[in-house]
Amino acid sequence: MKITLKPVGNVDNRIMEELREKLSQIFGCPVEIKSGIDSLEHAYDSRRRQYFSLLLLNNIKAKGIAKDERVLGIADVDLYVPELNFVFGEADVNYRAAIISLYRLRQEYYGLPPDEALFLERALKEAVHELGHTFGLEHCSNAGCVMHFSNSLPDTDWKEAAFCSRCHPKLKI
Ligand SMILES: [Zn+2]
Ligand SMILES: [Zn+2]
Repeated sequence: MKITLKPVGNVDNRIMEELREKLSQIFGCPVEIKSGIDSLEHAYDSRRRQYFSLLLLNNIKAKGIAKDERVLGIADVDLYVPELNFVFGEADVNYRAAIISLYRLRQEYYGLPPDEALFLERALKEAVHELGHTFGLEHCSNAGCVMHFSNSLPDTDWKEAAFCSRCHPKLKI
């Protein structure tokens, strides 16, 4: 099994590297960074000023995914699906692909002073959560488990970047 990370639009290399290293520790498999999606214009909704998550996820899937591979797209723009104001991420379980957005994970977004460590921790949790779905996991009722659904950042900050003892054995790696 292997995990591939793909930048969706412009994403700071340092963030990609940090996630690559932490994800390989958590999932215990090789994690590679490969070229992703350069142009995002087709997914932009000028009225919402956001990018349609599903279209970008489809672009990732269209590039092909090996049977033993899980692909995570990482975007630094605001993502939405029509029925919600925004999404932190989305997974396509059948196609073994997922996408996350870093956009709302920074303290600055909320008018607060920057906190790089907190930002990276949040990014890691969102990445582990969406990849968890691609490895067959569903949402978990344990608020401390990474598979708990995050409706807001306080939910994300409360949970750990790790799978609880009930979820961990179900991971199909
Ligand atoms: Zn989820
Ligand atoms: Zn759990």
